[in-house]
Amino acid sequence: MASIHESTTLKISAMAKKLAASGLDIIDMGVGEPDFDTPKHIAEAGCNSIKMGETHYVPTAGIPELRQAIAEKLVAENSLNVRAEDVVVTPGAKMAVFAAVQALLQEGDECLLVGPSWVSYEPCVAFSGASVVWGKVDDDFMPLDLASDITSKTKLILVNSPSNPTGAVFERNTLEEIRDLAVDRDLFVIADEIYEKIIYDHTHISIGSMKGMEDRTVTINGFSKAYAMTGWRLGYMTGPTDTMKWATRLLSHSVSQATTFVQRAGVAALRGPQDEVASMAKEFKERRNLLVSGLRELGMPCNMPGGAFYVFPDVSEYGGGDFVTEKLLKDALIAATPGSAFGPGGNNYIRLSYATSQPRIKEALQRIDKVLGS
Ligand code: PMP
Repeated sequence: MASIHESTTLKISAMAKKLAASGLDIIDMGVGEPDFDTPKHIAEAGCNSIKMGETHYVPTAGIPELRQAIAEKLVAENSLNVRAEDVVVTPGAKMAVFAAVQALLQEGDECLLVGPSWVSYEPCVAFSGASVVWGKVDDDFMPLDLASDITSKTKLILVNSPSNPTGAVFERNTLEEIRDLAVDRDLFVIADEIYEKIIYDHTHISIGSMKGMEDRTVTINGFSKAYAMTGWRLGYMTGPTDTMKWATRLLSHSVSQATTFVQRAGVAALRGPQDEVASMAKEFKERRNLLVSGLRELGMPCNMPGGAFYVFPDVSEYGGGDFVTEKLLKDALIAATPGSAFGPGGNNYIRLSYATSQPRIKEALQRIDKVLGS
């Protein structure tokens, strides 16, 4: 336990909230959650469920209605061949990642992460006793020669597209290369697709739908990002029968289940109108354009993310990610996340979340210019 660090993103978010509570005008670009409210019809479904007395235990893998709705979604939108009994509901996608990793890895195994990766993957792998190998990426954060990082110990590749923290989206050819590697070397893949709906100029592809991947992919998704439901804690996974069985065993002895009435809200999210999902994604795209063009105008090299709600600019010319994050918080009252939180490949970067309004993004750009401009 001592070797596992607290989540940097949650730590920074807590710090920003504390500074804001003390009266400072903090622009929080450290956050990993949409700044929109949960759509009303979803919240109401949760409230109605409580009122109806649905406040008791349900099976660990989830209520049948939600598992069915998820299976239908995965068939229709992700071309996965899934039945309700193949779906396991979890309290947040994070718990799905955690349980799937524990089910797939053990001491001595290696797990390949593709470049800068979400803060919780490495700790999840560490809890299993396995170790992480950091795969190389190019300037657009696309995998570079992953085959050279595969050893006889490699068991799992973690794929996260659209990516947190880089916003990179893997196209079909990239996913096919990963598929070929997984099939040739007999590896499992976890596909964390939580940003699937927040995607621009691209079409999301589930690697689990590709030929040869049916029995070696755990597909993970959740409600936090697409439906602005971070605090509800609701996610899910599907994958090989044994993996799901073991992951469910872990859940049954730890969290028991996702909250009963929250699962009803999940059914409403999937079965109800999807227009708010689309309008949130549209707003995120406008913010992305504003922030990327603004940073580039300031002379800061910045990628054009294809999805999620983060930009990952290169700040090596300004002193590196850790230095710039501290400077932005102290001198510009902007909370950002140092790229080092996402693995050794992130040291030259910072992650800025644009889950904040356009006027606040404009204000942030002015402050960044004042503090870092020449
Ligand atoms: N995967 C990724 C890549 C994420 O960014 C997050 C949330 N920050 C999660 C999983 C977990 O989401 P949740 O547990 O809220 O469903």
